[in-house]
Amino acid sequence: MSIPIHTYDAVIVGAGLAGCAAALELQKAGKKVAVITKLHPLRSHSGAAQGGINAAFSDADSIELHEFDTVKGSDYLADQDTVEFMCKKAPETVRWVEQMGAVFSRTEDGKIAQRPFGGQSSPRACYAKDRTGLTLLQTIFEQALRYGVTFFDEWYAADLLYKDGKVHGIAAYDIKNSERAIFNAKAVMFATGGYARSFKINSNAHANTGDGLSLVARHGLPLEDMEFVQFHPSGLSGNGVLISEAARGEGGQLINSEGERFMTKYAPNAMELASRDVVARAIIQEIREGRGVGPRKDAVYINLVHLGKDLIMEKLPELRDLAITFLGLDMIKEPILISATAHYSMGGIPCDVDGHVRKNNTEFVEGFYAAGECACVSVHGANRLGANSVLEALLFGRHVGQSMAKDVDSIELRKATQSDADAMSKEFDWVITNNGTEKVPHLRHDLQQSMTDNAGVFRSEATLAKQLNHMKELKEKYKNIRIEDKSKIFNTELQEAIEFGHMLDYCTFIVQSALARKESRGAHYREDFPTRDDVNFLQHTMGYMDKDGNVNLEYMDVILGKHELKARTY
Ligand SMILES: Cc1cc2nc3c(=O)[nH]c(=O)nc-3n(C[C@H](O)[C@H](O)[C@H](O)COP(=O)(O)OP(=O)(O)OC[C@H]3O[C@@H](n4cnc5c(N)ncnc54)[C@H](O)[C@@H]3O)c2cc1C
Repeated sequence: MSIPIHTYDAVIVGAGLAGCAAALELQKAGKKVAVITKLHPLRSHSGAAQGGINAAFSDADSIELHEFDTVKGSDYLADQDTVEFMCKKAPETVRWVEQMGAVFSRTEDGKIAQRPFGGQSSPRACYAKDRTGLTLLQTIFEQALRYGVTFFDEWYAADLLYKDGKVHGIAAYDIKNSERAIFNAKAVMFATGGYARSFKINSNAHANTGDGLSLVARHGLPLEDMEFVQFHPSGLSGNGVLISEAARGEGGQLINSEGERFMTKYAPNAMELASRDVVARAIIQEIREGRGVGPRKDAVYINLVHLGKDLIMEKLPELRDLAITFLGLDMIKEPILISATAHYSMGGIPCDVDGHVRKNNTEFVEGFYAAGECACVSVHGANRLGANSVLEALLFGRHVGQSMAKDVDSIELRKATQSDADAMSKEFDWVITNNGTEKVPHLRHDLQQSMTDNAGVFRSEATLAKQLNHMKELKEKYKNIRIEDKSKIFNTELQEAIEFGHMLDYCTFIVQSALARKESRGAHYREDFPTRDDVNFLQHTMGYMDKDGNVNLEYMDVILGKHELKARTY
């Protein structure tokens, strides 16, 4: 039976802030655009963002300070040209979304309210209570619908159509009934979000399995800086559900089992509002040294009681609900239990400031773009500052959409053929019919636990090498899986098996890149190399996967600028 081929000017995979913003711009420019998303757009992880979006608005703040904080926060690995671009465009991006109807929290005199976040010189995060992401996503999604963007909800992108340095579409299947289709386009954008589900304790939605990264890597294209995984300091103990940095921004204090406000030892000036990597390491260090709290002694307290009921109900109502629902603790009356949780991917699909995806250090892939968390335009370097990521997704989503609209008329459509669906069909049929003995949920749990143990907040040559070997075993076991559900309707067992294959591939990048980076920088902390080494490692990692699944590493220069290298203290 022949597979339908749909033709568009542009196809976007992902309907979070980045994907929706790009689609809106393309549609407004009169291009024919389709968005493919495995979730309903409003269930994308962007909707879970709580704390805010950065823009230097206030008199006490400046674009230059925003740039400086971002570069320092990145431990000097961010490309300073893209940081400058982002910080300069941040205020107009916030105004753009506000003028489309996003309702931000306000100060008494009617200005957009801003709260302090970690590693920032000034209160800079604009917010809508603690539901910022949902407010922004609803606004952008409504506008995209209003302008007539076509959404393919609950469709799974299973392959990137790439040949001879050029992308001409994707192959996808409908999760609702397993029907397959080819989406042929002059330009394709990936906005597939993050991957923290590959760690046991994480803050991410179930869908954040990083598919986009391995779909790219399987074609021999590079992934950049994959060793840099952000661990957020405050996930609810035991399950990692996020307690936004807004909690510390509003004045939350971290306390250990001795009743000590321990950040005095680690960041005497910034305290709880030091950069995320610094606070996450401090928490894990306290727990390791026996000063943890809670039934398993694997957490610390965050105390918000002194903020009072009125402030908590006005500014942090969602966080209060989460702690009551998941831990039975009411932050108005008592401290709650938190620990570090895998949260964000600084690395990803390498691209330039206009979203063009790199084929290598010097060449680009024709017709292929990326934006949002899956992309690495390198504004975050080795560590992202809170509230810079919603900004990145919205700002670069919009900008890359505009850049695609400009490029698309000069790109020639390479016509898709039936054989473009072969790789997707092969993988799909293999998962359905493979008759082994291994169960995907067991293998996934094993991967998540071992990634947390061996490639987590603290790493070393020994733990990373152990993890690499362990992943070889997991890959062998994956060849021997069996799923029980053979049906065509909403086959989530099939989807989870395909997603697990992706996890195994990009986790190999994380571990191999981390093993080779013999220094500590930002979120990547090597116990055997505890200091930053600018002589040997002030460079981006570029990983390429070969046919056997091994990752070969090369390096690319960091774009430096006016912010000079310094030791990073808070
Ligand atoms: C709990 C939480 C709170 C956060 N709070 C903040 C905050 O306050 N401030 C801040 O700056 N950042 C925050 N972040 C980070 C920020 O929200 C994200 O980095 C950002 O929203 C990512 O947007 P995105 O558009 O790139 O991807 P997402 O919103 O994650 O969307 C990804 C899209 O890709 C689609 N997709 C993925 N794979 C496939 C596939 N194979 N086929 C089809 N579709 C696919 C999904 O359906 C989805 O639509 C938070 C993150 C979390 C987890």
